[in-house]
Amino acid sequence: MEHIRFADVVRASYPCSFSTIPLVAKPGVRQSIRIPTARTLTMTEKRDSKTSVLRGLMNKCPNCGEGRLLRGYLAVPAQCEVCHAPLGRYPAADGPAFFAMTIMLLLLIPLIGFTWVLFRPSPGMLLVITGVITTVLTLILLRFVKGAFIGYLWAKNEQDRGA
Ligand SMILES: [Zn+2]
Repeated sequence: MEHIRFADVVRASYPCSFSTIPLVAKPGVRQSIRIPTARTLTMTEKRDSKTSVLRGLMNKCPNCGEGRLLRGYLAVPAQCEVCHAPLGRYPAADGPAFFAMTIMLLLLIPLIGFTWVLFRPSPGMLLVITGVITTVLTLILLRFVKGAFIGYLWAKNEQDRGA
């Protein structure tokens, strides 16, 4: 009878690419198998999502709050320059763009309404004014949203698992 102890399965989820699980194939004969495990790091410390989201929002490393999170406009460095936290392992992908667009679309309706009521522009001018404001605000917002998003991923330890 083969059986794998629960403690061995827990041990197998530790940060290494392969883990050895001892199992008993025959009574008294111990064999072991190697099983691939996810290359995720176990979280030893508690990560506060509120703090890390706020730090990300302020373009600071979610771990130490001192290093810069984004270089240039949206580039994420492989690791923090101060605490060496592996920031590059938390892929934001198109998540920040989705949230930035959603927030902007909610602002767009009152923006068009107020512009129309206050200035009474021609439809073409309304399109130009709201178009320019929307574009500029989205690009500004995207940077903050990306920072906060990576802060949240870091807090929940949502690493790139190569899926
Ligand atoms: Zn840091």
